[in-house]
Amino acid sequence: MNELLRMIPRVDDLLREPAWREIVDIYPEGVAKDTLRAHLDQLRAGIKDGAITAMPAIETIFEGVRTDVARLMSPHLKRVINGTGVIIHTNLGRSLLPDAAIEAMTMAARHYTNLEYDLGKGARGDRYEHCSSILKRLTNAESTLVVNNNAAAVFLILNTLAEGKEVIISRGELIEIGGSFRIPDVMKKSGVILREVGTTNRTYKEDFEHVIYEETALLMKAHTSNFKIKGFAREIETEELVSLGQRHNIPTYLDAGSGLLFPLKEMGIQDEPLIMEELAKGIDIISFSGDKLPGAPQAGIIVGKKIYIDAMKRNPMARAFRSDKFTLAGIESTLLLYLDMEKAKRSIPTLRMIYEDTEILKKRATRIVKILKDKCPGCSVSIARLSSEVGGGTLPDVFIPSFGIALKPESMSAQRLEERLRGLTIPIIGRIEKDNLLLDMRTILKEDEVPLISGIQHALMDGK
Ligand SMILES: *Cc1c(COP(=O)(O)O)cnc(C)c1O
Repeated sequence: MNELLRMIPRVDDLLREPAWREIVDIYPEGVAKDTLRAHLDQLRAGIKDGAITAMPAIETIFEGVRTDVARLMSPHLKRVINGTGVIIHTNLGRSLLPDAAIEAMTMAARHYTNLEYDLGKGARGDRYEHCSSILKRLTNAESTLVVNNNAAAVFLILNTLAEGKEVIISRGELIEIGGSFRIPDVMKKSGVILREVGTTNRTYKEDFEHVIYEETALLMKAHTSNFKIKGFAREIETEELVSLGQRHNIPTYLDAGSGLLFPLKEMGIQDEPLIMEELAKGIDIISFSGDKLPGAPQAGIIVGKKIYIDAMKRNPMARAFRSDKFTLAGIESTLLLYLDMEKAKRSIPTLRMIYEDTEILKKRATRIVKILKDKCPGCSVSIARLSSEVGGGTLPDVFIPSFGIALKPESMSAQRLEERLRGLTIPIIGRIEKDNLLLDMRTILKEDEVPLISGIQHALMDGK
């Protein structure tokens, strides 16, 4: 063992090696040196506890150092290829943005902007003016406010309108969205008293009416985004909530979750509330996420009556929840695309993927399968009929017919292939079904195709 320990190369000697020069030509010397020392320490520890019984070659040490430094110097947040077929995949970043939004966000990053500057008056302006005119146009709302996300919107609305007082909501709508967002928990934290009424499957207007008294500050309805109660079920309708609110002079609020700015009925999508329609029924406040079906950046969009929204703007918490300039730029330019719906369907990725023609997906899959068959002889490659999901907690029972690629390697299990695809420089995320690794073309971008093919080839190559 002592023999081995003495054989460990000295740092000063290693620093004179040409391989070292190659590393510090690319990476910062300080980082590389720390990594080298850490490697030698590991080597020493390994020898002492008997795990290492032979001195690795110098090249092997440098190879390890290079890999570690490269990993350290590359961002942890990476581009991935989404082969899951789930369009608004919360774990993969929800909606991709249209080019117009990306350009606007880059502009806001590169240049000074009139973020809070009124160009007409030459004085301080309001950052929320930017998205306001397009949001009003798309929803007919009297006033609007954009905050960090819909969770923040729910909190701000409840805290502003009902702190210390009661909010009535149906038991069937006390939902959990995932990622620890639970309506009852947010309600508690916002300082309101939750008054749940009805039963899990059925709630009537009378259930609300029975518990309304002086301490009632808000009547609330939440869209049960990611699940559906079927069969013997009844929820309180927006119209009923509105008529109760008006009769008792209590504001009404709908957490729409995703919501739609434009009807998608032709896609069999009927269960998402159309924001403009719900507002027209007389509801006072609606909130929804920017990065779900609207296909915009992450945001909580609040629309409704001016007196309530003005109160929210005055709430000190509004500052903590406020959107940054990139988001505001991205939201506004995405929403502007909705003024020409045909163009919106082509240019907003979330809508484009929902509407993408299945035949086109089949053609793309066919072409890629053909290439992979040539390049990957040790793997059975075929076209698969799949069904995509909209995702993001929306439309839990809508499945869109799709096509994709099925891979069944001979030399390794589908699990192993799935792991190797995840470990690529541009990771590929798929799913396993009956020993096949499936990749759905609906969520794979055209520009993903080249790295997809080379990535699959790489993952299959030396993974025995
Ligand atoms: C998704 C969702 C939320 C949370 O929205 P985020 O933008 O993710 O914060 C809140 N309420 C409902 C009903 C939802 O569907």
